[in-house]
Amino acid sequence: SDVLLEVQNLSIEFGTPRGRLRALRGIDLEVPKGRIMGLVGESGCGKSTLAYSLAGLVAGNGDIVGGAILLDGVDVSKMSARELRDMRGQRVSMIFQDPMTALNPVITIGRQMLDIQYRDPGTKSEKRARAAQMLERVGIPDAAAQLGSYPHQFSGGMRQRVCIAMALLTKPDLLIADEPTTALDATLEVQIIELLRELQQEMGCAIVFVSHHLGTVAELCDDVTVMYAGEVVERGSVRDVFHNPAHPYTQALLECDPARIEVATRQLPTIPGTLPDLVDVPRGCIFAPRCPHAWERCRGEHPRSYEASGPRHRAACHLLDAEGR
Ligand code: SF4
Ligand code: MG
Repeated sequence: SDVLLEVQNLSIEFGTPRGRLRALRGIDLEVPKGRIMGLVGESGCGKSTLAYSLAGLVAGNGDIVGGAILLDGVDVSKMSARELRDMRGQRVSMIFQDPMTALNPVITIGRQMLDIQYRDPGTKSEKRARAAQMLERVGIPDAAAQLGSYPHQFSGGMRQRVCIAMALLTKPDLLIADEPTTALDATLEVQIIELLRELQQEMGCAIVFVSHHLGTVAELCDDVTVMYAGEVVERGSVRDVFHNPAHPYTQALLECDPARIEVATRQLPTIPGTLPDLVDVPRGCIFAPRCPHAWERCRGEHPRSYEASGPRHRAACHLLDAEGR
């Protein structure tokens, strides 16, 4: 099948002093092979928690309490520590907002890039050559000589390029990028997005791109998943979701003016109201307190996901229930 990653009804909770925090609830999504999916939502909506869980990374106080994360049909949430480590080295890679998260400050770039290739065939010098080639590909000048450098010797933008080189060195099937350009200025951001797009086309990997920049997602991604307070509220192709948003939350984000996203909107707009308490999740639709269309049914019944403008475009809102209005 052409589906690389399938998340089915995934729920993750965190233990907190106030009780169980239900950070992710009933998440469904699909990433086809070689596609770029944007994961968008306000801060605290669970997009980073979801992205990390795809790589088998759930914080120590967190538990997967239901559902499955299937990578080519194999459940990541049931893998042993060793299987996870092998998966992360080979099939799934990550890049982060802060490149230093992925880099060891006291080990040279060359050594780190050798270590990443621990399961790959070839001699040490072949692996060094591969590392230098990859650094050169991401635009590090004088790449072979830079293998002896330490992470702090690179500027912020160059450091993110090094991380991208490291993440793609083992030719993963899936790259998870958690706001990789948020810390960079606009010029560097454009360059990094362009680089990711080129590399994705060359290498054919799928990308899950976590972002709160709608404009960046519109530029880079094929598909988009919109999250709100720990749930997926809408998903589909960028074209369908951004030009024909079906969920009132997505509509609020786009301010009913899709033409704006390509040009100006870098940040998620602020919409009125506060996020619900995820320790005491309200019954009904999670968006009801902020939704201009909410009616009685919304406060009593959690909406299921409905087909919106096409078969791959889905939204969780009672407005889409042809029978129930
Ligand atoms: Fe608004 Fe009701 Fe749809 Fe929720 S289900 S988004 S409250 S209309
Ligand atoms: Mg985040």
